[in-house]
Amino acid sequence: MSTETGRVVIVTGGSRGLGAGIVQSYLDSGDLVATCARSRTDEVARWQDDPATADRLLFSEVDLSDRPATTAFVNEVIERWDHVDVLVNNAGVARDGILGMSRDEDIDLVIDLNIKGTLHITRQVSRRMLARGSGHIVNISSIVGLSGYRGLAVYSSTKAALDGMTRSLARELGSRGIYVNSVAPGYLRTEMSHGLDEDQLQQIVRRTPAGRLGEPQDIARIVQFLTAPENDYITGQVIVADGGLTA
Ligand code: NAP
Repeated sequence: MSTETGRVVIVTGGSRGLGAGIVQSYLDSGDLVATCARSRTDEVARWQDDPATADRLLFSEVDLSDRPATTAFVNEVIERWDHVDVLVNNAGVARDGILGMSRDEDIDLVIDLNIKGTLHITRQVSRRMLARGSGHIVNISSIVGLSGYRGLAVYSSTKAALDGMTRSLARELGSRGIYVNSVAPGYLRTEMSHGLDEDQLQQIVRRTPAGRLGEPQDIARIVQFLTAPENDYITGQVIVADGGLTA
């Protein structure tokens, strides 16, 4: 077991985009961070090569829709760092297209990761948190789970499901010292939003009171706030962070 100090944090899908921003913010706070994705990126290699972060980062190539692989990843974190203080369910995938034309494979891919994969890792981690009587869980959902978006029926179903999971788990775990919230971002400048064309992005920016798209740090700050040890009263909430787009 490690003698390093700092919270033990799991961030799913931390290899790029929002997840990488969240991993970076916990590394900056001195925490021990485990993350996974299906493939390693330059960002992950940078953390692994940097003496300031190398010992505090655990990265595994894991497909979170693969239950045995996910269980093995959680076990690896426990073996290395003994417990988990924070779980951030960030990994998610979207497939565009009107529902009437969608293919079985695309529906399954999105549901297998966004809902089933998230439920599975949360089951594994919450079990450990229950044994310790403490923990914080954040689910990254989306404003499209609240307000919808044409062409994203499958994806928005999964994000609404995460918010439902947040509320039920908050009730299930609150009396045991475990706090569960969702953060619902608006549109972020990441690979996922590359599916939107420049006109759509400009329209979103025009309609956003803050006058810009979101950046990973905008969301990472909120995740940090919700998972701080001091937060033992906000639970079961969906915190919308969209620059006012849905105000
Ligand atoms: P992204 O750039 O596409 O990154 C997604 C991350 O998840 C990557 O690390 C990816 O790595 C990993 N991932 C995807 N499928 C996986 C799988 N089956 N198993 C393990 N890891 C997997 O997306 P993002 O924009 O940062 O989005 C992060 C979260 O924010 C998602 O839940 C998304 O729904 C949500 N969100 C995004 C926006 C936005 O505008 N971008 C808005 C609201 C909410 P690999 O591909 O290598 O596996």
